[in-house]
Amino acid sequence: MKALISIDYTYDFVAEDGLLTTGELGSAIHDKLLLKTKEFTEAGDFVVYAIDKHEREDDYHPEMALFPPHNISGTKGRELFGELETYYQETKDRTNVYYFDKRHYSAFSGTDLDIRLRERGITELTLVGVCTDICVLHTAVDAYNLGYKISIPEDCVASFDEDAHRWALAHFKNVLGAKIV
Ligand code: ZN
Repeated sequence: MKALISIDYTYDFVAEDGLLTTGELGSAIHDKLLLKTKEFTEAGDFVVYAIDKHEREDDYHPEMALFPPHNISGTKGRELFGELETYYQETKDRTNVYYFDKRHYSAFSGTDLDIRLRERGITELTLVGVCTDICVLHTAVDAYNLGYKISIPEDCVASFDEDAHRWALAHFKNVLGAKIV
């Protein structure tokens, strides 16, 4: 059994005027990411949306000092970007679609993702979304440590930092044993 983990493809991370945007590099993967999401959803595979959620004031969160505020609870910035939002709304009631909020880079940090995957017998994860070298990377490292096989479609991940994007792709392949497709 396999799952698609869709990470942070939201307005703030992708739209031109998003608060922590990957800009054109992020919007360039829109069509491929949407297609991949449709593929998994229609096939009945488990589709997980792991989406950053922050509060406007959160003195205890380390990201506050590192990044501009983003994906603030109750704002448009947290909506999925482009047609992914429409597609998610159309399919969100399906039993193979699961959306949850995350507070850290990794989709496994402080969430029930691992048990949700294990109870379905899932051993293979495909990761898509942004940013390649931050949230996708931290999710991939946790997945590796938990024993999952990882696959990353190169044209479905992006970052605002292209060098870091390329470094992360090499790390997935050479250090985490991920399939880059
Ligand atoms: Zn964040």
